[in-house]
Amino acid sequence: HVGLAHTIEVDAACNQAFEVDWVTIMHGDERLGHVWLVRDITGRKLYERKLAALAATDPLTTLPNRRSFMAELERTVAEQQSVDDRPGALLMLDIDHFKRVNDTYGHPVGDRVLKHLADVITKVLRREDVAGRLGGEEFAVLLRGTTNETSFGLAERLRWAVCNAPLDCDDGLIQITISIGLAVFDGAPAESMLSRADQALYEAKEGGRNRVCMWSGGGRLLSAG
Ligand code: GH3
Ligand code: MG
Ligand code: MG
Repeated sequence: HVGLAHTIEVDAACNQAFEVDWVTIMHGDERLGHVWLVRDITGRKLYERKLAALAATDPLTTLPNRRSFMAELERTVAEQQSVDDRPGALLMLDIDHFKRVNDTYGHPVGDRVLKHLADVITKVLRREDVAGRLGGEEFAVLLRGTTNETSFGLAERLRWAVCNAPLDCDDGLIQITISIGLAVFDGAPAESMLSRADQALYEAKEGGRNRVCMWSGGGRLLSAG
């Protein structure tokens, strides 16, 4: 008769994965040996990884999507040191008067502008920063290990780069500007961070758009814009 069946998954070198099943062959109380079944599941594992990557990615811009960005934000908040002179920051970005772009050039061109914006953001950011598309024409950025001055400086560089890199298309050059809300990490939970960055973004819009506004507990700090 056969004993208990076992199954393990082995991640071998050379990026190969195997599923190993075995049973023990018994004769009374005597163990006669094992039967092994080794299956190559490399293809299935690759497929699963591909699916996970797809589920985390915004198809238009190829940036992390909202869900994936939120998970990253939660991780950042959880790892946050309470006393730190390089707390990093959360930025929320929104295109100014994007409806006009859609109205003037059509939705497909609007989509190209969104893609272009994602490219500009990615080029400006450092390797350790994370950008994501929260939805529509709203993006967010995680800056980690930055002083408040560096965070504000990077936000300004983003704003500047976007308005100085118009999209070259059949209808000519399309220039856009963005408004940015910035909130510095201080141990507050992810939800509060989002709401602060959102409030700062609102202030930046109210202040005339094409500017960076830093949340400071009701006060405000505007860039020249
Ligand atoms: P502002 O933010 O400066 O106040 O003005 P806005 O014109 O950008 O205002 P609002 O945020 O209300 O409008 C956003 C527009 O973005 C509305 C919608 O048609 C457009 N939009 C949202 N998602 C997409 C998208 O995926 N593709 C395109 N082409 N347009 C989108
Ligand atoms: Mg918007
Ligand atoms: Mg907008």
